[in-house]
Amino acid sequence: MKGYNTLFPMGFHYTGTPLFAMSKRLREGDPEIVKTFTKVYGIPPGTLEKLKDPKSMASYFREDIKKGMVEIGFSIDWRREFTTIDPLYNRFIEWHFQTLNRKGLITKGTHPVAWCPNDKSPVGVVDTQGDVEPDIGESYLVKFQKEGVSYPTSTLRPETIFGVTNLWVNPDATYVRARVDGELWIVSKEAVKKLQHQNHKVTMEGEIPESELLWKTVQNPVTNSEIPILPGSFVEPENGTGVVMSVPGHAPYDYQALADLKQRYTDLTGPQQVLQDTTPISIIRLEGFSDLPAVDLIEKFKVKDQNDPHLEHATQELYSKEFHDGIMKENTGSYSGMPVAKAREAIVRELTSQGKIETLLELRNAPVICRCGTKCLVHILENQWFINYGDPEWKKLAHKCLDQMAILPEELRGEFNYTIDWLRERACARAVGLGTKLPWDQNWIIEALSDSVIYMAYYLLSKYFTKDWVVFKKFERDTSRLPDAFFNFTLLGDGTVDAVAEQTKIPKRILNAIRAEFQYFYPVDMRHSARDLVSNHLSFYIFHHSSLFPEKQWPKGILANGFVLMEGAKMSKSLENIIPLRQGIAKFGADPVRVGVMATAELGQDTDFSEVLALSIQERLSALIGQARKLGTKKIAGKAKLSTLDRWMLSRLSTAVQSATNALDRLRVREAINIIIYQLDNDIAWYRRRLGPKKLRFDNRDRILRKILETRTRMMAPLAPHTAEEIWSRIGNKGFVVQADWPEESENEKDVVAERAEALVRQALDDTGEILKAIRITPKRIAYYTASDWKWQVYLKALKAAEDKVRQGDFIKDVMEDPQLRSLGKAAADYAAKAIQQANQMTDEMRQSRLRDGVTAENTIFAGAVDFYQREFKSTVNVWKEGDPSISDPKGRSRMSEPYRPAIYLE
Ligand SMILES: [Zn+2]
Repeated sequence: MKGYNTLFPMGFHYTGTPLFAMSKRLREGDPEIVKTFTKVYGIPPGTLEKLKDPKSMASYFREDIKKGMVEIGFSIDWRREFTTIDPLYNRFIEWHFQTLNRKGLITKGTHPVAWCPNDKSPVGVVDTQGDVEPDIGESYLVKFQKEGVSYPTSTLRPETIFGVTNLWVNPDATYVRARVDGELWIVSKEAVKKLQHQNHKVTMEGEIPESELLWKTVQNPVTNSEIPILPGSFVEPENGTGVVMSVPGHAPYDYQALADLKQRYTDLTGPQQVLQDTTPISIIRLEGFSDLPAVDLIEKFKVKDQNDPHLEHATQELYSKEFHDGIMKENTGSYSGMPVAKAREAIVRELTSQGKIETLLELRNAPVICRCGTKCLVHILENQWFINYGDPEWKKLAHKCLDQMAILPEELRGEFNYTIDWLRERACARAVGLGTKLPWDQNWIIEALSDSVIYMAYYLLSKYFTKDWVVFKKFERDTSRLPDAFFNFTLLGDGTVDAVAEQTKIPKRILNAIRAEFQYFYPVDMRHSARDLVSNHLSFYIFHHSSLFPEKQWPKGILANGFVLMEGAKMSKSLENIIPLRQGIAKFGADPVRVGVMATAELGQDTDFSEVLALSIQERLSALIGQARKLGTKKIAGKAKLSTLDRWMLSRLSTAVQSATNALDRLRVREAINIIIYQLDNDIAWYRRRLGPKKLRFDNRDRILRKILETRTRMMAPLAPHTAEEIWSRIGNKGFVVQADWPEESENEKDVVAERAEALVRQALDDTGEILKAIRITPKRIAYYTASDWKWQVYLKALKAAEDKVRQGDFIKDVMEDPQLRSLGKAAADYAAKAIQQANQMTDEMRQSRLRDGVTAENTIFAGAVDFYQREFKSTVNVWKEGDPSISDPKGRSRMSEPYRPAIYLE
């Protein structure tokens, strides 16, 4: 409508494990998925059988979603549709990865990945239940000793080793003795598997009974002090090694667990007598805290026992404070006086060289569950294929690309910059799932976040693959016959058309057409996607484009949307508040769903869909169709001169076009909807109310109302296309409104004089109504007295004086020097004082605009509205100007009149 040729294609991403996992659950008769499919998605039980195969499930939902997109009126170019398991798409991805590999951006290496032990495959955000991005973090294993056996404790704060008073183990967990890389270790049973996945050589030697563990002592590897092993039910056997060091002076959990334990064993005899000697040790000095900051925090958060959720906040607060501001105390040996952060590095260095510490990788956001239902863990993957996002040259290119892009909302740019800096090697292949095989290692399938970053370019190819089916059929049957040269030429402009035509036997005309179309549409001007994809997919999109394509084909912009909420809540299967698109359309209609989603949309925020809103929009859109029905298609004969009121209405329309256009240019859809679908009606209602019943044969109302409806229909076309087309044809227009032009904001229809006049009429109407409400009479006669010429003269002079910052006294003196005004005596002096006061209190904007407007012909304006007022108040209405010789002014009200404020008299 604005003259741009816009390409809106659609494809379907089949890659990965989700379909596999879902069809497997269906095959196993998982009641939850059966319920979701039948209850939420309304799939007939007979159809379920067909969905048990992953590809059939994919095509079922593809068809369903496609129907929904057609029904809601997306103007998609379906000629370009494809799926990521189409043979020629696979060939395209092979070219993509071969090109990356040639550029040295694919590495083979040994790196930690999140891993599903069941699938024996790396997992990423798209492979986990609830789409959780696994977060791998490092912790330290500090090895306590006893008679040649190690008790490795996992900690993030190895510098606190000086304050350790005891170790914790969970009394209900199973602990084992295991040989790890030649050493004997005591760890939880759960830890064994973790260590194995991290390339430790582990053999289990057997479980150890609780009695051999609890209340025994071990030796601190740094201070050599003997400390006891105590029972702590808060210790999670799946976390770290299941053995934890206790620093009650600086760790709120430890302090509280120790306090709880002492309370439980009031009788401190037998082994429990060690509790007596277990007292917190202060090792870090922290400004504003006591020697034992853990105690301060426990008091601050009013912690009750070791299961109190406040402990987590207390812990986080203290850890961060000590890390940033803590200083190691005198009892920490050579670390004394060091800032905590520095001491941590130093002690890790020292203990590493002595073999007393190791690192353990953990999923910080555990438990992360694979789509197959298995708990994920960290696995060190050897000889695996990675995309090297850590390459510094590549990072530079990605930054350069980002710097040239529009990011909406702009505040997300920081997150993109952060992601580009932070990304490292990323596993790009999986052992299971649908997708493209890694071209040089057929045991691996390229994973979903790696085969979906340049697919936009494929839309320019896919149309030709379908259209020139005869030519491409042979390649589809044997994709290896389509050489890289084809992609290099069409997408990158490398090579010559003659050489590629010769090699592929594809006619030059087709090759040139693809190349021309690619250059015409590429790059993508604006990619709309989800807010939560900024840190992965959208950043990868920038990376890959910046490396593969020449600079002029780099993406130009990204817009990140929020979620569609349902009545304020996130849609989820468990809340049963999902409305599948097609059901929503069937229930409310396509346009109410579209407008319902957009009506609360604000850039960068979630939008909230509600049934009430959709129903009210449905009603509104029907009313607009009703207006069209009334106007009909008949031609309007005759043409009267435009009245001030007509000019006012056209001026309002022009303002609406301007502000709606402005709002849409800035993607403020909500504001645009408000103007187009709602606000304009207030003006139309006023226009009709002012006009009253039709008296003249030719007035302009039908012509103007038609113009308004036609204009707003053009503006509605992108928002509610079905309604817009219906109205467009009902009022007798040919063709489609979506092919019509967007309305021009015609400046010449802006009429400030008319707008000012209507504002006055409306103000007097409201003021009169207020008075009538207060004195509760039915008036027989109403009189409006407009200000005399001399008051206007004084008023405008006062505005000017206020602009020039003239003092009040000087202004009045100046006024009274005018002989004509002086002859009016006190009345003139009083009004001058009032006028200058008003002028001083006005906003600069209002003062300046009133100065510009000069004298307003109020008497003419009100005289023109007499009919209207008589109709509104069912009363006689007179209009006089103050000082009019024929004036009827029984109570002398006209004295009160002022510019912009006529005096009102009722009887
Ligand atoms: Zn799995």
